[in-house]
Amino acid sequence: MEQVDILSMDLAELKAWMKEMGEPAFRGEQIFDWLHAKHVKSFDEMTNLSKSLREKLERKAKITPISIVRCLVSQEDGTRKYLFALEGGSVIESVFMRYEYGNTVCISTQVGCRMGCKFCASTLDGVERNLTAGEMLSQIYEISRDVDCRVSSVVLMGSGEPLDNYDAVMRFLSLIHHEKGLNLSHRHITLSTCGLVDRMYDFMREKLQITLAVSLHAPNDEIRHQIMPISNAYSMERLLEACKAYTKETGRRITFEYALMAGVNDSDACANELADRLHGMLAHVNLIPVNDVKERDFNRSSNERIRRFAAILQKRSIETTIRRRLGSDIDAACGQLRRGYLKEGEV
Ligand code: SAH
Repeated sequence: MEQVDILSMDLAELKAWMKEMGEPAFRGEQIFDWLHAKHVKSFDEMTNLSKSLREKLERKAKITPISIVRCLVSQEDGTRKYLFALEGGSVIESVFMRYEYGNTVCISTQVGCRMGCKFCASTLDGVERNLTAGEMLSQIYEISRDVDCRVSSVVLMGSGEPLDNYDAVMRFLSLIHHEKGLNLSHRHITLSTCGLVDRMYDFMREKLQITLAVSLHAPNDEIRHQIMPISNAYSMERLLEACKAYTKETGRRITFEYALMAGVNDSDACANELADRLHGMLAHVNLIPVNDVKERDFNRSSNERIRRFAAILQKRSIETTIRRRLGSDIDAACGQLRRGYLKEGEV
């Protein structure tokens, strides 16, 4: 018998399931509280349930198993990079960062990724599988247990393309926001996409107050084609239209991520073209010095180039920041911790 993935169930489903089992519906609330407010990892700990119900749950359901395989801690700023093992032997990465405005966790939404961005380590072997909503929550619960603190913001910027795992990600967003769970405001959540335009419109229609980050990385289709295969499916014009629609619907500013790669997308002309394209949008550009990935040929732009690129955008009234590199002493580009572990056992 297939066990129920209980951590991915919402409150209404839990209540209905309890009724099916001949239990009062409020048992569903008690279970929800144990899982999403108290973050227990076994049914045994649910001490306000009868022993017989706990045994029944043990047989019929599972609390998504996830365990810490490695944790690298930055001596500079306390950033922690986690490697988690999931059921079935898959491994994923998550990151814990301390910012002035609170503790942030960056989670993965898939094991691997199938988007094929040329500079990214997560996509080298394609996608292994989607994560469940419970597995996304577990990354956060496990980290807050490990660090013993409240997580106040979450970014969906680890491995995987969140909009390529749409239903599970929507379920995750609803569970993490639930007032009887972590009760995290959607305003404190950022979802990053490489630009699945059709899905962006679906997401817009959910009418959530989530910050949308779009991985742009180029000022035009020609350069984007060289580094992001998704640009063959959706032109930049269509992508920017979708961004404008998202802002119109939600009132939220879009964050554009732009990883600077020497000689590829970091010239003055690129900065000016980008400013032209983003002119008049409620937007913010986050410049990211590209992380070197040893299987890939892209190199980080010099600090001087990055500052100049930022200055051009700022002069053209495009709000721009340069991403601070947290945890640079434990540096491992997106997906590299996992890769090293899988291939060479080198971390
Ligand atoms: N699939 C989603 C979210 C995961 S990637 C997306 O594409 O947005 C999170 C961010 O890291 C994206 O902006 C991605 O382009 C960027 N990224 C991937 N590899 C990188 C690297 N080597 N250096 C810098 N940024 C990288």
